[in-house]
Amino acid sequence: MSNTTEKIKCLIIGSGPAGYTAAIYAARADMKPVMYTGMQMGGQLTTTTEVDNFPGYPNGTDGTAMMEDLKNQAERFGTEVRFGMVTKVDFSKEIGGIHKVIVDETTELEAETVIISTGATAKYLGLESEQRLIGGGVSACATCDGFFYKGQDVVVVGAGDTAAEEATYLANICNKVTMLVRKDHMRASKAMQHRVDKTKNITVMYNTEIDEVLGSNVVEGVRAVNNQTGNKTEIPVTGVFIAIGHKPNTEIFKGVLDMDDTGYLITKGKSTKTNLPGVFAAGDVQDKEYRQAVTAAGTGCMAALDAERYLGALE
Ligand SMILES: Cc1cc2nc3c(=O)[nH]c(=O)nc-3n(C[C@H](O)[C@H](O)[C@H](O)COP(=O)(O)OP(=O)(O)OC[C@H]3O[C@@H](n4cnc5c(N)ncnc54)[C@H](O)[C@@H]3O)c2cc1C
Repeated sequence: MSNTTEKIKCLIIGSGPAGYTAAIYAARADMKPVMYTGMQMGGQLTTTTEVDNFPGYPNGTDGTAMMEDLKNQAERFGTEVRFGMVTKVDFSKEIGGIHKVIVDETTELEAETVIISTGATAKYLGLESEQRLIGGGVSACATCDGFFYKGQDVVVVGAGDTAAEEATYLANICNKVTMLVRKDHMRASKAMQHRVDKTKNITVMYNTEIDEVLGSNVVEGVRAVNNQTGNKTEIPVTGVFIAIGHKPNTEIFKGVLDMDDTGYLITKGKSTKTNLPGVFAAGDVQDKEYRQAVTAAGTGCMAALDAERYLGALE
């Protein structure tokens, strides 16, 4: 540990749309924000080439380019962006207390306010062919990418509420949706299952898993295997939507901040306040419902305003 501990007014953990938006607002409010980017500088959007639904880009944009724009905007107002991973936190429980944070297991910092925007990570199956074709027809977000498959045939993998929701969303856009469910039943709520059953262009294949995603540069189909009989079927599709869940990046906050049973941080009412004073959460880390760049950015703005008001009330 270093001898002189740096003191920061507003520390932002994570560099996705939530973090950069919080940084823009915090910097313009003269809170001199310092951001630690984590290992994925720019967040989840850097894994996609096409972002078509973020307001202000009439022709769409590349995810990495968009995050570079956000970084430049945050830096223009004086945000200090640093590459590093927050590895431990020791948050104060007192109003006006100082929050201790360790970066990369070595550097200790003290912060008056902390904005957590560490996001969530989409779960994938882990097949080599699936990983190779992410961005080439394999997606973990129907709301984000469904539009690109208008009138085409797609597969959705998963059996929970999210999978059922993604399948019904895609059914409105695509020609045909095939749901692959690993077990002999779905985990989704009865209401969601009913919606799936009622939708004419959705077919559900039970006891079925993906053996391989077919195609070299773009998806041309999937080879599905029945895990009871071993029978293999090739399904020609152009899109494969993996809907087996997300994991919020909240490991370091376990036992420190209130979270729900799936690890998402809990914020109070319409605010971004966590259960500890001066600690705020924005973006996908506290939102398993919407999970969009624009909603993450919106809550990033809220977190900076909440932090500014918190500091203002202390004076
Ligand atoms: C393939 C794909 C395509 C998508 N396409 C779209 C789209 O077209 N439109 C749309 O609106 N949304 C899209 N999304 C969803 C969108 O990317 C997310 O909703 C959004 O990025 C969430 O922003 P965030 O700021 O909450 O977190 P994230 O973008 O998840 O960023 C989290 C940040 O936290 C950092 N971090 C994590 N742990 C630590 C730590 N311990 N210390 C420091 N930093 C840490 C990471 O490095 C990262 O920078 C897509 C998602 C994926 C996966």
